[in-house]
Amino acid sequence: METVLIGGTLIDGTGCEPLPRAGIVMNGGKVLGVGPLARLSYGRDARVVDVAGLTIMPGLIDTHTHLTYHGDQPNVWQLEFEESVELDTLKAASNASRILQTGFTSIGDGGCRGYIGPAIRDGVAQGIIPGPRIVAAGPILTGSAGLLDSMPAWIRMESDQALGMTVNGVDEVRRAVRTQVKGGVDWIKVSASGVAGSRFATAETEDLSADEIAAAVSEARKYGKPVHAHAHSREGVRAAVEAGVLSLHSGEFVDDELLLLMREKGIIFSPTVAWLHARCLPGYVLAANPAFVDEAWRAYAAAKVSIVRARQLGVKMAMGSDASHRFHHVPDGALELEYYQELGWSAMEVITAATKTAAEAINRGTMLGTLAPGKFADILVVEGPVCEDVGVLRDKRNIKWMFQAGREVVLAADRGILGSNFKVAEWLDEPLGRSDPRPHVDKARP
Ligand SMILES: [Zn+2]
Repeated sequence: METVLIGGTLIDGTGCEPLPRAGIVMNGGKVLGVGPLARLSYGRDARVVDVAGLTIMPGLIDTHTHLTYHGDQPNVWQLEFEESVELDTLKAASNASRILQTGFTSIGDGGCRGYIGPAIRDGVAQGIIPGPRIVAAGPILTGSAGLLDSMPAWIRMESDQALGMTVNGVDEVRRAVRTQVKGGVDWIKVSASGVAGSRFATAETEDLSADEIAAAVSEARKYGKPVHAHAHSREGVRAAVEAGVLSLHSGEFVDDELLLLMREKGIIFSPTVAWLHARCLPGYVLAANPAFVDEAWRAYAAAKVSIVRARQLGVKMAMGSDASHRFHHVPDGALELEYYQELGWSAMEVITAATKTAAEAINRGTMLGTLAPGKFADILVVEGPVCEDVGVLRDKRNIKWMFQAGREVVLAADRGILGSNFKVAEWLDEPLGRSDPRPHVDKARP
């Protein structure tokens, strides 16, 4: 049966100006028609929902989640020691449900323990559990002593159920990609640098080498799989960009030369600023380590600069939180959107980054991200001036209806704001590049 939403303001996800007095017709999971009310046609027996005064927009897309991690234990090393993969799978299913309730109808999962991500993807697709549509990676490819290898040399760990799959040399990279293809992944995640808090590396230490990343891209291409990269350091970004990854995540130490190369190659930049900020807060698990805190603040300050600069240079940008459910400070991917807005983006630019461009960043641009005939009917109906302020999306009571492939999603009756209701603007009012960028520590309300 056709379902028709009529009378709302339409944001179609393409970046076009909102269209008042519009509507959308859906059937069979897809959009059949969309546009001004006068041009919509639908059958007499269609279910018609009057959404006058509300905004119709595409479901949000987060290009960067980790379903297997959660706020109970934000230290991923500890989590892997303490929690079985079976329990973690249940928690991943719970995360999927939570993410859907925050308005995200699709996600790109950027690495998981074992093959939990593909399993959750299939569970959602088969209607076993609620959740967003998932583009699933397997474990992240990392080198020894890289981003996700926290084991000292005197302890040997061989595990197929860790977040990192350790590879050294192009032969091992090719084998790992082939193994992951057998595991059912949609895309491959590579680590091009460490991160603040890595046991042996920093955010400015390269992880996989340029030839290893290039091998991952060429091997994955054989199977029609894209590669996306975790990279904080400049040279890590360079290796990933030159290898031709689909999307580049974090990337705060990028420079103009590399941003221009990204633009030239059409590589999509997904900064992860809310998460980088969350790691600076006193409540974070590594906050007692002053070296970590210094590094974390440097990364956060650099992230703000890189977001502003990439937009100025016209780089394609997509929203990726790397966080949502796994940090108490960033319990909701929508928070990432507010950071972009506070850094000077218009609300419509931000929404495009979380819809059309995000769909492209997870290799689903042909079917998701905009409301156009033939695309999946993943739709939010929102109350409040979201065309001017994406902050409207933080309070889930403003989401009045949600459709996933044309089916109405049952929204939690007690939905509201997840976590604390802090104002992003209060966090961002420090001048960029300040030498001691830590006065906010005193204001922390994680
Ligand atoms: Zn990540």
